[in-house]
Amino acid sequence: MPSAVSTKTGTLYIVPTPIGNLEDITLRCLRTLKEVDLIAAEDTRHTKRLLNHFNIETPLISYYREKEVERSEEILQRLQEGLNIALVSDAGTPGISDPGAVVVQLLQENCVTVVPLPGPSALTTALSASGMTSSGFLFLGFLPSKKGQRRKQLTSLAASEYPIVIYESPHRIDALLADALAIFGERQCFWARELTKNFEDLQHGTISSLLAKSQEGRNRGEFVVIIWPGVQEEVQGQTVEELLLWYRDNSELSLKDVSRRLADDLGLSRSQIYQQALGLWQEKD
Ligand code: SAM
Repeated sequence: MPSAVSTKTGTLYIVPTPIGNLEDITLRCLRTLKEVDLIAAEDTRHTKRLLNHFNIETPLISYYREKEVERSEEILQRLQEGLNIALVSDAGTPGISDPGAVVVQLLQENCVTVVPLPGPSALTTALSASGMTSSGFLFLGFLPSKKGQRRKQLTSLAASEYPIVIYESPHRIDALLADALAIFGERQCFWARELTKNFEDLQHGTISSLLAKSQEGRNRGEFVVIIWPGVQEEVQGQTVEELLLWYRDNSELSLKDVSRRLADDLGLSRSQIYQQALGLWQEKD
């Protein structure tokens, strides 16, 4: 009897690419891009320019946000046929505010090997120059583009004890900083713009000083914005009512956020606390 032909399943390599300066690609990433059978790229024309620069002739297939599910199935099939594939996005690390997670999940479910390569990301590059001393941070990627949703998300973060890190485009930086100022009040802030490029710009200041800079209107390039936590005052009060009054008069949290926080902290029902808070908030108005 002829022996069955066994095909070894291939590997998906996650390959970070430069966020501006083409020298920021590792030797391992270049070798991987040369050696794999296929490169799955967010934008094949964009990646082709990178490959041309490094004389890499590996064929490309497209893998982009709107077709992630469909393209993930195709990638799985090719890997099961024994091909090795590299996944790249337009810039930085795939899967970090970029397509990638869907195919990785599918491969995990199908026991296919995924090998992540370290490399550039705007997130880590900005953090390294921010002077942030806290051991943790909250990375949010892009906030919603609709004002109402963006404000809602910022409000829910007002009490975060960690610096928050946000990706932002040049045409929304003003709106982001204006909303942050309205919701958080004045805080320490940092932006990293055009990282690794000719006009790299790192600015520390308050939210309002950076808002004034962005309103000067020369905001070419993409931003990473870091906003530090507000000064934490010690909450004072013994009873639920005293605590609610303290939050009402000393914090920028909304009635809903205060109720949620107290209910969670004290193990009480949210709706009960909300009702009590409503009365106290109405008294003030
Ligand atoms: N996957 C990428 C990474 O690892 O950084 C992020 C891709 S996301 C679609 C693009 C956003 O990343 C930009 O809007 C900007 O906020 C940030 N970004 C990318 N390149 C940047 C750069 N050179 N300087 C500052 N921010 C950058």
